[in-house]
Amino acid sequence: MLIAGNWKMFKTQAETRAFCAAFEPPDGVEVVICPPFTSLPPAVESGLTVFAQNVHWAEEGAYTGEVSVAMLQELGVAGSLVGHSERRQYFGETDESVARRVRAALEGGLDVIACVGETLEERERGQTELVLRLQTEAIRDAVGAPDQLVIAYEPVWAIGTGQTATPEIAQEAHAFIKSLIDAPVLYGGSVKPENAAELLGQSDVDGALVGGASLDPDSFAAICRAARAA
Ligand code: PEP
Repeated sequence: MLIAGNWKMFKTQAETRAFCAAFEPPDGVEVVICPPFTSLPPAVESGLTVFAQNVHWAEEGAYTGEVSVAMLQELGVAGSLVGHSERRQYFGETDESVARRVRAALEGGLDVIACVGETLEERERGQTELVLRLQTEAIRDAVGAPDQLVIAYEPVWAIGTGQTATPEIAQEAHAFIKSLIDAPVLYGGSVKPENAAELLGQSDVDGALVGGASLDPDSFAAICRAARAA
């Protein structure tokens, strides 16, 4: 079981130190935190496994606002999220650019959690499997299914909305993604201590990518304990 916390654009360095001092993860669960770029150093210093939230495909160059694999590795960062729906929605990330980022990160030696998921509109139009297929195959065709790659299924309508996918919806999507790529699949979308056990109890759910509930050390630890029990 892998439980990853995506902090999005939350937590300064001081707030990161305070979180790490208070956070008590249980043994027996793989835990990752994904702070914003500026808070990566204190997160790494805490001894927790740390991923970035994004990484660029080029080794270096004229890419204002971007960060390279080597820059992350110099800080002791172990991996990166790629293709989060907020990147796809607000920053023009496409299946192609996601695939390029995933390939560069893996080739450079970072682990990757690559995110896929349909919008509410796509689900209502009956296009969930089509979207998951296109997004997942773009990644698979670029890199195959190395051990360092994990997929996160994050239905966009469930992210930050409090509207969690039912365990059945999650299980169905995870099984479909696993029919396309031989990789562990995390569920993400309003995971909380109250619903974590049921979601993580599904046979094809291999962990969780947690946004809002990962910002509080107690609620994130409670989700990690639910994963250990699952
Ligand atoms: C996320 O940001 O990846 C996420 C799943 O957010 P939340 O848990 O807040 O829905």
